[in-house]
Amino acid sequence: MFHQVTIIGLGLIGSSLARAAKSYGLSSRVVAYDVDPSVRARVAELGIADAVANELENAVTDADLTIICVPVGATSDVARQMKDHLKPGAIVSDVGSVKGMVCDALSQILRPDVHIVPAHPVAGTEYSGPDSGFATLFQDRWCIITPPDGTSPDAIEKVRAFWCGCGANVESMSAHHHDLVLAITSHVPHLIAYNIVGTAADLEEVTQSEVIKFSAGGFRDFTRIAASDPTMWRDIFLNNKDAVLEMLGRFNEDLAALQRMIRWGDGQGLYDLFTRTRAIRRSIIAQGQETSAPDFGRVRKED
Ligand code: NAP
Repeated sequence: MFHQVTIIGLGLIGSSLARAAKSYGLSSRVVAYDVDPSVRARVAELGIADAVANELENAVTDADLTIICVPVGATSDVARQMKDHLKPGAIVSDVGSVKGMVCDALSQILRPDVHIVPAHPVAGTEYSGPDSGFATLFQDRWCIITPPDGTSPDAIEKVRAFWCGCGANVESMSAHHHDLVLAITSHVPHLIAYNIVGTAADLEEVTQSEVIKFSAGGFRDFTRIAASDPTMWRDIFLNNKDAVLEMLGRFNEDLAALQRMIRWGDGQGLYDLFTRTRAIRRSIIAQGQETSAPDFGRVRKED
């Protein structure tokens, strides 16, 4: 599909992409670069790329497709560093969880003879680093692409085909719409999880050991999300501020309504809401985005 795909940032997503590109034959050559020398050494040891570059500039020179897989806040720096070294007609993509800021930054920084096709695979785990990746991470997951207006259809098609080759389903939308959708489906849920785990950690009337001991009551499912990478999530909230604040406003209103139902003993109201939410989980399972297995449906690392 490509002669050379270059991956910048070999964490969970970047290393999974390198593995997928090699396993599914999506590129003749996969080149990797990470700012962290110990990550570069580990990637070479794992053999998940054909070459590991010590400089970003060298990594991108011959790339037909470069995919930026760093925390969203580092995207502009990476783009500035690679700008003069990309070949004319090269495609630059990314995997950032926020798209408005990334699209603006890439469009402003990169040269006009380079094609920009931002992407966001809606797939992941709470683990980080090159050892945490696996080739099948994107299988049957959605990848959202947000090409700016006027992007070459050929470049869009190539990026779409690459993600399909990784086993993903691809949908295209505007960066603005992506950020609203992800604010409610991913960013606000993470904020709620960080908050509830933080609140439990600060409680005085209930000890930490009680929180841990009795966590199967629901708390532990939040701790999985709240264990996600702090740098990545800090960058997401700083760069998707408007959409997150808008969705948080709606969430707070609904929470106040729930509070009222509890205060006034509105059992019917509570029952109706919980029945509606149960149906949403069933739809997610029916559409293959989760399994019906208990324990949050995920296979444990050691299994
Ligand atoms: P990760 O496991 O923390 O990996 C990021 C890697 O990028 C780290 O090795 C990091 O090195 C490196 N890096 C940071 N700044 C760099 C730079 N300027 N140049 C080159 N490498 C640099 O993160 P991840 O989970 O793969 O996330 C990467 C991106 O994917 C983020 O934008 C995130 O929003 C997006 N995403 C994540 C998920 C998920 O579930 N994790 C899902 C979808 C999309 P250091 O550790 O030394 O900083």
